[in-house]
Amino acid sequence: MTNEPVALAEGAPAAAAVPCERCGGFTPEHELAVVGTQRLCQACQALRRAEIAIHPYQRLLLFGVLTSPAVALWLLANNASRLGEQREAWVLRALAVGLVVVAFGGNLVDGVPGTVVLAIQFGALLFASSRWKDRLDKHLLLGGARAALLPTILGVIAAVVFMMLVAGTLLMVFRPATG
Ligand SMILES: [Zn+2]
Repeated sequence: MTNEPVALAEGAPAAAAVPCERCGGFTPEHELAVVGTQRLCQACQALRRAEIAIHPYQRLLLFGVLTSPAVALWLLANNASRLGEQREAWVLRALAVGLVVVAFGGNLVDGVPGTVVLAIQFGALLFASSRWKDRLDKHLLLGGARAALLPTILGVIAAVVFMMLVAGTLLMVFRPATG
């Protein structure tokens, strides 16, 4: 899909007219902006934003409180991925897995106060998500889509049940018949 520039007027600095990576229309460079992974003209920016469905910042915090900060971080990673930040998305997923390990480890090791584990969990969530807040807000403000709530809830329930099964199994393995 390479749109070759059609014979730019010789020498005339039609200056920085650059093709939009979606529609190919030549656009003054200052009107282009990256949405997702593409530099787009203004019309295409709006179209692309409407296609990128994210979880709003407040929803992340709510899920963090109602389920677990690891779940919220995972949803944030999905946001990052959809917004074209693949590397950051993997960092966030790794952090989410790390939080599950911390929660499990805190459960397994005697003498670790639950409040410490909770502080680590929510500290990590607030730190990671606050860095994204402005970007998420801006995406929605400019007409970006919200990820549908029901599939998110169902997915989160499935993930939480799965994690509890895994944690329960591991606890039985590591702590047979205590108590
Ligand atoms: Zn365009």
